[in-house]
Amino acid sequence: MKVLILGVNGFIGSALVENLLKKEHVSIYGMDMDHDKIKEFLSHPRMNFVEGDITINKEWIHYHIKKCDVILPLVAIATPSVYVSDPLRVFELDFEANLELVRQCVQHKKRLIFPSTSEVYGMSSESEFKEESTNFVLGPISKQRWIYSCSKQLLDRVIYAYGVQHDLQYSIFRPFNWIGPKLDHILTPKEGSSRVLTQFISDVLKHQKIKLVDGGEQKRSFTDIDDGIDALVRIIENKDGCATRRIFNIGNPNNNYSIKELATVLLDTLKNYPFFKDKADKTIIEIVKSHDHYGQFYQDIQNRTPSIEQAQTYLGWSPKIGLKESLIKTLDYHLSHLDHSLA
Ligand code: UDP
Repeated sequence: MKVLILGVNGFIGSALVENLLKKEHVSIYGMDMDHDKIKEFLSHPRMNFVEGDITINKEWIHYHIKKCDVILPLVAIATPSVYVSDPLRVFELDFEANLELVRQCVQHKKRLIFPSTSEVYGMSSESEFKEESTNFVLGPISKQRWIYSCSKQLLDRVIYAYGVQHDLQYSIFRPFNWIGPKLDHILTPKEGSSRVLTQFISDVLKHQKIKLVDGGEQKRSFTDIDDGIDALVRIIENKDGCATRRIFNIGNPNNNYSIKELATVLLDTLKNYPFFKDKADKTIIEIVKSHDHYGQFYQDIQNRTPSIEQAQTYLGWSPKIGLKESLIKTLDYHLSHLDHSLA
C-alpha cells in the first residue's frame, strides 16, 4: 500500500510515520517544509520524503496522488491564536489549498482520508457530539475564530458531496484535542500562541504565569496521540471497507477535563521531575480575560465531548490512555529533547 502524507512532519504525520513503517506492506511518500520530527525515519527504505510546500510543489503532489493508493492531506493551521490573528491564511491553506487536493483525489479515483476537526461542532450545547446528528453552532462573522471550523466544515460537505455524486472513496476523522510529544515546540518564540498543553509546559519552563482564559472552566476531551494514531491506522487499513464514506470522532470522553484541572494535574505531574520541580512549585496560575489574551475576534467552546460510537462500531476502536499517562509521556519526551541551556 502506497500512502501519501502531506504534512508528514506535523504532529499527526510524524506519529503516523513511526507506526506505519512497522507494517511491511506500507510504503510512505511524504512532503513537508521541515523534517525535524521525522529525522530518524528519513533513511528507512520504505520512507520517501521530499522537502516542499503544498502550495508551490504542485507537480510533485499531482504525480504522487496518481501514484499512491491512499492520500492523507494533513497540512493545515490548527492553532486558535492564528484563527484570530491571520484568518485569511487559515482559509487559504486549510480550505483553498486542500480543495485542490480533494479534487485530484476525485479525478484519479483515490482514497482520501481527510482530517476534519472537533471544532466543526462549535458551541453546540449537546452533552456529546455525534457525527450524524449534532447541529453545528458557530458565532457571528465578527468572531473570526470560526473561520477554521467553517473552512473544515465546508470541505467536509464538499467531500461528502463528491462521495454522493462522483463515488469518491473517503473517510473523515475529527481529532478531539490530541496531545502528546511533538505537538508544538515548547521553546519557540511564538509566545502565548501554542495549543494549551504545550503553552502551559512552556510557561512553567520560562518562569511565566499559567494563564487560565476566562477562568479555565471550559472543558476539552484530551486524547493521547497513540490512541489517535491507532484509530487512524484502522481507517487507513479499512478492513472490509469499514471506514469508507464514514465520519469518525476520534476523542477520549473519559479524559474530559477543564483547563483549570489540566493546569493542576500538569503542575502535580511536573513536581515528580527533579528538573521541573522547582519551576512548578514557583508557577503562579492567573485568570485572564479572553478579550485580553486572544483579542476581540475570539470566542470559546465550553464543552466538547465526543460520542465515539461510530469508531467503536466500525473500527473496533476505543481510547485507552488516561490524561496523567499522556502527560508523563509528553514530559519525558520534552525533557530528553530539551536544550537545557535554553530553559
Ligand atoms: N487556554 C488557556 N490558557 C492558555 C492557552 C489556552 O486557558 O494559555 C484555553 C483556551 O482558551 C481554550 C482551551 O485552553 O479554552 C484549549 O485551547 P487550545 O488552544 O489548546 O485549543 P482549542 O481546544 O480551543 O481548539
